[in-house]
Amino acid sequence: ATPTAIMVGSGLGAKRGILFKNATAIETSARIDTVVFDKTGTLTKGEPEVTDVVPGDIDEERLLALAGAVERESEHPLAQAIVRHVEGTQVPKLRATGFRNVTGIGALAEVDGQKVAIGNRRLMESEGMSVSEHLGARRDEIANGGRTAVFVAVDDRAVGVIGIADAVRETSAATVTALHEAGVRVAMLTGDNRATAERIAEELGIDDVIAEVLPEDKATKVVELQQAGRRVAMVGDGVNDAPALAAADLGIAIGSGTDVAIETADLVLMRADPLDVPIALAIGRGTLRKMR
Ligand code: ADP
Ligand code: MG
Repeated sequence: ATPTAIMVGSGLGAKRGILFKNATAIETSARIDTVVFDKTGTLTKGEPEVTDVVPGDIDEERLLALAGAVERESEHPLAQAIVRHVEGTQVPKLRATGFRNVTGIGALAEVDGQKVAIGNRRLMESEGMSVSEHLGARRDEIANGGRTAVFVAVDDRAVGVIGIADAVRETSAATVTALHEAGVRVAMLTGDNRATAERIAEELGIDDVIAEVLPEDKATKVVELQQAGRRVAMVGDGVNDAPALAAADLGIAIGSGTDVAIETADLVLMRADPLDVPIALAIGRGTLRKMR
């Protein structure tokens, strides 16, 4: 593109808080045919709230006290939602020791001399904790409703399920529509479970769901799409997303993204609005047209 076209393009973007890092980023935007969105904090608000508390063989107060003790040690957004919920009740505060985070699947600690684990089914399996048919069914019900379900386990078995909802952003569905109108395919990439992810994807009209992906595997999923011939933009906000942003043809950091995501990205969207993604791609196409 000519220097003038590039200047016009970046000026148009800057007015909306769409910051292209360099001229190559604008030119690449014009050629993107696939956009991959991280789910949490990108398509959703990233402000999860507890919606379901299902005690199995335990009373609700004890279940919340144990869960709160473990999650108080964690920085995960789901953990923070659980802590906020527990602190809004009269449940006694317990102390956890030996906290251990298991990236992308859950967390563990000792509370009152018992081993307590919170996380998805994969965590239950890797820790050898059994899940009753009843709790498994309640978990499926929550996930099929598009909410995230985590098991709380004590010693060798799950004793409860907690459901957490993260509302989709107001403009997420319109974003997918606008990308489709521009002939761009849309995928969702998440560590969350398949049922939850598929329910949300269906609501938003998203074409492809890549779920239950461990943080370290997100970049690999982007590379697989590129190997299939796609020119991929990856949109994310978290530290976990940085390698995938780097692997993509165009890395896009959104909103209050972490510093690592912002540093790695080719394009930064200052406002936390996914609708700026199709707008950025349109600016890229407009810029390229001017150069011909
Ligand atoms: P995302 O890609 O949506 O940001 P993560 O990779 O951070 O998700 O987490 C994936 C899954 O791991 C969560 O949906 C949850 O089931 C489980 N998990 C991870 N950390 C925790 C935690 N501290 N408490 C409960 N569940 C957790
Ligand atoms: Mg995330």
